[in-house]
Amino acid sequence: MSRSVFITGGNRGIGLAIAQAMAADGDKVAVTYRSGEPPAGVLGVKCDITDPEQVEAAFQRIEEAHGPVEVLVANAGITRDALLMRMSEDDFGDVVGTNLTAAYRVAKRATRGMLRARKGRMIFIGSTVGLRGEAGQANYAAAKAGLVGLARSIARELGSRGITANVVTPGLTETDMTAALPQERLDAMLEEIPLRKAARPEDIAAAVRFLAGEEASYITGAVIPVDGGAGMGH
Ligand code: NDP
Repeated sequence: MSRSVFITGGNRGIGLAIAQAMAADGDKVAVTYRSGEPPAGVLGVKCDITDPEQVEAAFQRIEEAHGPVEVLVANAGITRDALLMRMSEDDFGDVVGTNLTAAYRVAKRATRGMLRARKGRMIFIGSTVGLRGEAGQANYAAAKAGLVGLARSIARELGSRGITANVVTPGLTETDMTAALPQERLDAMLEEIPLRKAARPEDIAAAVRFLAGEEASYITGAVIPVDGGAGMGH
């Protein structure tokens, strides 16, 4: 296909699986990374997405190498879990800043090239937690819920220009983000998942790949769960 694809946080976890799936399809894939080495076979761009200047520099680098971004995957995210009573302003602000504000930032910048091309795909990685809430994750749930409003507004605003915007909401997925969870919390989460197992990053990548592909050209403003049934009804 050879489209210019940009994935934030594509150096590990779900973002890495998305990058590998799309590179295997023949796309020109660029990913952000902050420390360490970017994965082989894709363009790694050092970038902290909470810094507007670094985001601008990353887009310029990708445009030089691959042309304007045609598929944007806003994937990078963090958690800073705490019960509301103990959640600091920084815990709240940092999580919203990375998961929501930075997604707005990259979407806005990607719009420039997409408008000119009169086509584009934006895919936001939300979470089941953004739809059903989670004790200890008010910041994260608020940010992920915000992505739904962001994507649906973009879908309405830019649909007439051939640009789609959708959200994929993973449930529990085996990555560094969940590796740190205590076993009893994991067991309680598995109890709530009809399929009784966590997702692999590849399961999430498959939905993203579909939304980026030709077959999904009439899908916009959708929220697609990949959660083993955990979020049913939300
Ligand atoms: P990981 O913790 O494994 O990876 C997070 C990624 O985000 C890393 O690539 C990290 O880059 C990047 N990142 C974080 N902050 C920034 C930043 N300021 N600038 C640039 N990159 C940043 O997470 P997952 O792969 O599990 O999560 C990916 C997405 O999926 C997130 O949005 C997460 O909320 C969502 N999700 C995950 C679920 C799960 O169970 N794992 C469930 C539901 C949703 P670096 O390596 O440089 O730190």
